[in-house]
Amino acid sequence: MTLSIPFDNSYAKLPPKFYARLDPMPVRQPRLIRFNEALAEDLGIMSGDSSELAEVFGGNRPPHGAAPLAQAYAGHQFGGFSPQLGDGRANLLGEVVDRDGRRRDIHLKGSGPTPYSRMGDGRAWLGPVLREYVVSEAMHAMGVPTSRALAAVATGEPVYRENGAMPGAVLTRVASSHIRVGTFQFFAARRDTESLKALFEYTRDRHYPDCADPAELLQAAIARQAGLVAQWMAVGFIHGVMNTDNTALSGETIDYGPCAFMDVYHPVTVFSSIDAHGRYAYDNQANVIVWNMAQLASCLVSLMPDENVAVEEFTRIVHDMPAQIEAERLRLFGRKIGLASPGQEDAALVDGLLEAMAAQQADFTNTFRALATGGARDEFTDPTVFDKWAEGWQQRLAQETGSTERMLAANPAYIPRNHRIEQMIAAAVAGDHAPFERLLAVLQNPYETQDGAEDLTRPPEPSEVVHQTFCGT
Ligand code: AMP
Ligand code: MG
Repeated sequence: MTLSIPFDNSYAKLPPKFYARLDPMPVRQPRLIRFNEALAEDLGIMSGDSSELAEVFGGNRPPHGAAPLAQAYAGHQFGGFSPQLGDGRANLLGEVVDRDGRRRDIHLKGSGPTPYSRMGDGRAWLGPVLREYVVSEAMHAMGVPTSRALAAVATGEPVYRENGAMPGAVLTRVASSHIRVGTFQFFAARRDTESLKALFEYTRDRHYPDCADPAELLQAAIARQAGLVAQWMAVGFIHGVMNTDNTALSGETIDYGPCAFMDVYHPVTVFSSIDAHGRYAYDNQANVIVWNMAQLASCLVSLMPDENVAVEEFTRIVHDMPAQIEAERLRLFGRKIGLASPGQEDAALVDGLLEAMAAQQADFTNTFRALATGGARDEFTDPTVFDKWAEGWQQRLAQETGSTERMLAANPAYIPRNHRIEQMIAAAVAGDHAPFERLLAVLQNPYETQDGAEDLTRPPEPSEVVHQTFCGT
């Protein structure tokens, strides 16, 4: 069988300022670690043998029909503006239109230096590649909008990081696009209104065909991001690097770096080694996304006929966002405790549980799951604290039907816990890919209890706790 990818490229037709054309840089000895056959099928890709897949998705041979390029973008990183970022270690091979008619990017990460690499080597090591593979596929299975993983290839080359020489790897990811808030900022910073307008039109056609103007697009993009961040919170996910260059216009989760799922619930949890002040802490994600969308708003203002009027209108739109996130959060956490359509009066019940969990060191995932399966009180240092909360909860549940099924569908049994990810990476570095395969397999059905996977529900032993995660770039 010969690999064939039905490319239908559109980004490459945008003006040259939008990117730098270049092929991925070949690697010494590409070896296929994994290919996502099910996703390939959805994308209309005809698979090939593993050496061909390794060659193409390792970057040694651009596939037929590709128009490889590195995208230009800017971005606020931890609040500081960098006018020039861009794909420093990534390559957009091109796009395909999937079986549902959705346009999707096929994009290599770790594919070598580009004109946007700055001081970086353009590479990735095996750890972050497998982490992104597992976590993005798990997020998808949980129903959270996200980029996907199509392939992982070992390069046969070392990559030098803080911890010494690590095995290199390339991830192929698939996303609805890689247009970022930072892509708009790239042109806004250059006062290049013509390019900004072209980017707006491209983004509208690709993601928001019903939006008549930048104001409507802003509103629609805000609605998607509000829903996305609420979904992150509902599964205990901390993105870790919510820079504006990592915020996608599609409303998908992109750029998995030092991301992590919480074990013990605490609202100010931070894992990323570079997030010293907790800018991207679990509960600050709701604030930061508003800030990021305000940056998008300020880029779009210049495309409106009257800028002063637009500033007022956009300010209103952005100011509305916290309420949208809160409404989504209440809806999702309401479901997590079994309520079909929670009202404002239920917010105290939701928050009461979360406060008790934080005070009592309760495991986020297991506590919510156990609301349906039993034993939630055992997750609390002092179970009577749970009992007290549960009195009000039981009264409220008396008005509901189907709450158990609702909770089972909203509360995953399995998440990619940090210690399991670290163990999986250590094993892979030592040449054993079985833990990677097993995590992937179990996490494909996160809401279904699976025989023989009980160990993957367990929080870390004290010696296994992961306190920090790294970008790994
Ligand atoms: P990130 O925070 O991982 O989204 O990356 C921020 C910026 O740094 C992007 O422009 C990346 O392309 C760039 N970058 C990250 N790692 C590397 C690397 N190893 N080599 C070159 N550029 C990199
Ligand atoms: Mg990024």
